[in-house]
Amino acid sequence: MEASAGGGWGGGGPAARSSPAAVQATNDDAAASKLSCVNKGYMKDDYVRFFVRRATRRAPIINRGYYARWSVLRKLLHQFLNAGKNSNDEKRKQILSLGAGFDTTFFQLQDEGIAPHLYVELDFKEVTSKKAAIINHYSEMKDKLGSEASISIEKGEVTSAHYKLFSADIRDIPKLDSVIRMAQMDPSLPTFIIAECVLIYLDPTATGAIVSWTSEKFSTAIFFLYEQIHPDDAFGEQMIRNLESRGCPLLGINATPTLSHKEKLFLDNGWQRAVAWDMLRIYNDFVDSEERRKIERLELFDEFEEWHMMQEHYCVAYGINDAEGIFENFGFDKE
Ligand code: SAH
Repeated sequence: MEASAGGGWGGGGPAARSSPAAVQATNDDAAASKLSCVNKGYMKDDYVRFFVRRATRRAPIINRGYYARWSVLRKLLHQFLNAGKNSNDEKRKQILSLGAGFDTTFFQLQDEGIAPHLYVELDFKEVTSKKAAIINHYSEMKDKLGSEASISIEKGEVTSAHYKLFSADIRDIPKLDSVIRMAQMDPSLPTFIIAECVLIYLDPTATGAIVSWTSEKFSTAIFFLYEQIHPDDAFGEQMIRNLESRGCPLLGINATPTLSHKEKLFLDNGWQRAVAWDMLRIYNDFVDSEERRKIERLELFDEFEEWHMMQEHYCVAYGINDAEGIFENFGFDKE
C-alpha cells in the first residue's frame, strides 16, 4: 500500500493520485448522507437540505454511522461549551472548523442558543464559494447572521459578528495565521478545533504541521479529529481501494493506522494530552444510551457484523491543551 507515499496531491505513484475535486466531492456525499439521516429522524438539522440537490435514501447502516458521528461531536462540543461555566470569569469561546465543507453546526447551535462567541470555518474556495452562495440565497440561513453580515460569493467569504467563513488551503500554515487574524480569533480564548474527515486526505507532513501549529497557537484548546483507522485488514484494504478509485486516497492513513498512532500524532506535535477511541466503543459506551435506543427503533437493522467492522474503522481522537485548567471534566470517560 503506497497511499502515503509521495509529496502531496498527485505526488506519489498512480495509486496515490489525489484530486482536490474528488476530495471536495466527499463533502457533497457527507451532506447527502446527513440529509438522509435527518429525513429518517436520526437527528435534527434544518439547514443541510439547502446543500443537497436531490435527497437520496441511504442504507440503515450508513444512517446509523452518520448519527454516531454527529452524536459524538455534539456531546464533546457540549462539554467544551460548558467547560469553566461555573467559574467567575467564564471566558468567551471559539470554534475553528478545518475543511468544514457544508457543515451546518454553527446554525444549529445558534438555534439552540448555545453558539460560541465566534465560529470560523475554512475550506477550499470552490467549496466556500458555494457555501457562501447558499447562505446568501436562503433567508433561513442569512437572517441568522445579523444585519451586519457581509457575503462575497466571489471570494467565498462570509463575515458576521459570530460566524465567519474563509477560503484557505489548510496546508498553507502562513495562510492559516493570516486567516485567523482576519477572522479576529483570539488565541488566548478556549478554542475547539474540528477536523472531521479532512486530515486523513492530506500528506502526513501537512497533517503534522497543522496539528503542531494549532497547539502552538491555542493554549486552551481541544482538537477534535474524526477519521478512518486500520488500513491493514480486509475491510480496511477495501475501504482504501474504494476511496482511491474515487480519486481521494487516504494519504495519511499509513502514518496513523491505529488508535495509539492517533494519540501520538497529538502528543508528538505539542498537545498536552490525547485520547483516541474507535467508533464502536464510542457508540456503545459514550453516545447517550437513551438516544441510542430511540434511533435504533427507526429502521429495521440486521447488518450487525458489517456495522461492527465499519465502526471499528473510524475513530475520534482529541488533543487537549489546558493552560486555563478548565478541561478536567472533558472527555469520553466524563459526564
Ligand atoms: N468536515 C465536513 C466535510 C468533510 S469532506 C464534514 O464532516 O461534513 C472534506 C472537506 O475537506 C471537503 O470540503 C474538502 O474541500 C476539505 N479539504 C480537503 N483538503 C483541504 C485543504 N487542503 N484545505 C482546505 N480544505 C480542504
